[in-house]
Amino acid sequence: MAAGRTGTRKWSLGLNVNKRRSLNVERACEFFIEQRESRHLLKGIKMDILRAAALAGAGSLFLLVLTVVSAFVHEAGHAIAWTLAGARVREVGYAKPYGAALRLKAGELTIAFNPFTVFAYTLIEGSTEQLSPASKLQNIFVHGAGIGANVLAAAIALGFSDPLMHLFAVSSAILVVQNVLFEDGRRVFLALSGS
Ligand SMILES: [Zn+2]
Repeated sequence: MAAGRTGTRKWSLGLNVNKRRSLNVERACEFFIEQRESRHLLKGIKMDILRAAALAGAGSLFLLVLTVVSAFVHEAGHAIAWTLAGARVREVGYAKPYGAALRLKAGELTIAFNPFTVFAYTLIEGSTEQLSPASKLQNIFVHGAGIGANVLAAAIALGFSDPLMHLFAVSSAILVVQNVLFEDGRRVFLALSGS
């Protein structure tokens, strides 16, 4: 009887041990799965952050490209108007005038570019005062031509169904508003008021 009891106890102990072991294995499996899932989740979050950062970077770069293109369209408007008014355009740039920039020669014209500058200009031979067009109409024409070029570019861009072209139209419109409230607007206003 005593041996049998011991045997039973041994057996029941064995069962307990097995049960405990199987519980441990189960828990370990659960733990492993949880770990793997949370690692998977973390990896997913990391991927999402990376994707968001990449999208933000691409978006910023695209906005810079839009700004630069709109600025060059604006300056091309001034440059064409100055040429029509009889002046010689020396340099068109998206940079600081006379500042550090990548410079490309296109015949007599120099094109300057510095991506770290939010400024664009058109340089003509001699000073603006020397070459200032005599008539009020010419004054309005050369100083308003940049805004005119952006309005025209926005109108053309809106004719396309491509959403990227619509973004370009928005970028052009922003530049129009900024320049109306900046130097161009002031100069056109002065010409209009006859000062
Ligand atoms: Zn302008």
